[in-house]
Amino acid sequence: MIKKIYSIVIKLLFRPKLSCHDEEINLIFHSISHQAKDKSIYSMSKKKFEELVHIVKKLQIAHKSQFNKDLKIIFTFDDGYKDFIINALPVLKKNRMNSIVFIIGSNIFSGRKEFISFDDLDILRENNVKIGMHGYSHIKLDALSHIELKKEISNLQHIIKKAKLRTSMFSLPFGGGNDLVFDFLKNAGFNNVYTSSYGSGVAFKSVKLYKRIDIWSIDNHQTLIQKMENFWDLYYFFDNLKSKVYRVK
Ligand SMILES: [Zn+2]
Repeated sequence: MIKKIYSIVIKLLFRPKLSCHDEEINLIFHSISHQAKDKSIYSMSKKKFEELVHIVKKLQIAHKSQFNKDLKIIFTFDDGYKDFIINALPVLKKNRMNSIVFIIGSNIFSGRKEFISFDDLDILRENNVKIGMHGYSHIKLDALSHIELKKEISNLQHIIKKAKLRTSMFSLPFGGGNDLVFDFLKNAGFNNVYTSSYGSGVAFKSVKLYKRIDIWSIDNHQTLIQKMENFWDLYYFFDNLKSKVYRVK
């Protein structure tokens, strides 16, 4: 069903072209598996990921020669899957791409093998992967009461201390944010908040809010460039109408 809707949307779009980006573009990925495990748009095969990284690299080279400036693209990974280390990191390293992994606090010492653990953090640091947080319990923060939010953030701060992490980067679980959430995050030291709001560029509340572009396993050369070139504005418009800003997934 989603594939059908997706292909209809694609047909409504124009051919991609390269334009002059001043700001950085943050792409969102989730799981990068050895092989796509299921039909989820959030689980991409390593082969597809490698294809998309090569497209990004070509785009950066073309942008540099056309506009004589770097096109800054950051690969961000939500949910902290361990398959990032196994399948995505070698590809990113080989192609010298910048990345941020957003980890769910409660998974760090949980022993759940599919998630990045305390022992894995050094691998990220050694490979210049930036580490951000994605909540303590991966709950939608704007759905919480004041007391619940306080508890969630204090649990997160406790685990960060235990794991000896230092970060100002936070990715909103399910994109859920509001002014109260941003105030809590700021007070906890998270001044750089990554949203699920489509696009490039930054908005300012009590914290710096980064827009991002969600990349799916069904994306290809054409759709990746279209998303990065903001040809999905119509999609963003309807998405923002139904869900307001900060949330997509
Ligand atoms: Zn998430």
